[in-house]
Amino acid sequence: MRILVTGGAGFIGSNFVHHVLDEHEDDEVITLDALTYAGSKDNLDGVLDDPRHEFVEGDIRDHDLVTDLVDDIDAIVNFAAESHVDRSIEGSKPFVTTNVQGTQTLLDAANEADIDRFLQISTDEVYGQILDGKFSENDSLNPRNPYAATKAGADLLAQSFQTTHDLPVLITRTCNNFGPRQHPEKLIPKFIQNADSGEELPVYGDGLNVREWIYVEDNCRALDIILREGDVGDVYNIGSYAEKTNLEVTEAILDAVDADDDLITFVDDRAGHDQRYALETEKIEALGWKPEYTFEEGLERTVNYYLN
Ligand code: NAD
Repeated sequence: MRILVTGGAGFIGSNFVHHVLDEHEDDEVITLDALTYAGSKDNLDGVLDDPRHEFVEGDIRDHDLVTDLVDDIDAIVNFAAESHVDRSIEGSKPFVTTNVQGTQTLLDAANEADIDRFLQISTDEVYGQILDGKFSENDSLNPRNPYAATKAGADLLAQSFQTTHDLPVLITRTCNNFGPRQHPEKLIPKFIQNADSGEELPVYGDGLNVREWIYVEDNCRALDIILREGDVGDVYNIGSYAEKTNLEVTEAILDAVDADDDLITFVDDRAGHDQRYALETEKIEALGWKPEYTFEEGLERTVNYYLN
């Protein structure tokens, strides 16, 4: 397979590029990334010189560039996005232009080319919050922050290309990822680094918001299976069953780093902070996938990565 991976210098995208090149010796990957503050070529250390890999610095909103790149491609995996909820609350414009308009540009280019798969990488946040039970792929979308709204917009646009143009679209919605190569603005890497250097760990509100956490390598394995074996036109949730309050995550990090609980500082809650996300995962499990890492195993690896 020859795969265009957009956003492949970011957290999940770079882990996915490494995964594909490690696991599929006949595959070739082109990584397209604009190298925003969130992306770094360092995340691709070890594959930059691989003859099966090419790195292109560029923007998914650049129609001419993406049209050129998709010319000789079997599949597109679209990770490229503005991904930080807090930043989307401060200013949503880049979220709309990259997450929605960028996806539209890729869909248009894919539609003009002859591709076998368009995998749109989405998030559990598009469903909105759920206090009891879990979201299935058939539930309606109810995004409640600008980041989630732009991801939902991209999902709907991608689905409309499948319906109206017969574009071979698949969509994945994963819970919170953690692991190596994540930008330190995100909760787990930030708290590991703060705990290690004796700085405060700012926890939103009462710290009781619940998220489901998946180790990034488990997510990459699931994405790879869906890319190759998923049914075109379908949506796949990817969850881990590892539900944790933010406070539990914070305490686990303090424990792992051997730092003191009094570093926890409660700060004003995020505006519109969703209380809980949770996903049903029967569809992806029917493809033979299960998470391999418990939250604790993933956290141990993640702490080792950031401290070394
Ligand atoms: P990230 O912010 O670490 O990486 C995003 C990458 O996209 C960066 O390398 C950035 O340079 C690149 N990028 C941004 N705008 C671009 C543009 N206009 N053109 C080309 N490249 C651009 O994000 P992440 O956490 O790796 O998330 C990747 C994808 O997975 C996103 O679509 C996100 O919505 C989705 N997702 C993330 C999580 C999570 O927990 N991190 C969970 C579910 C879904």
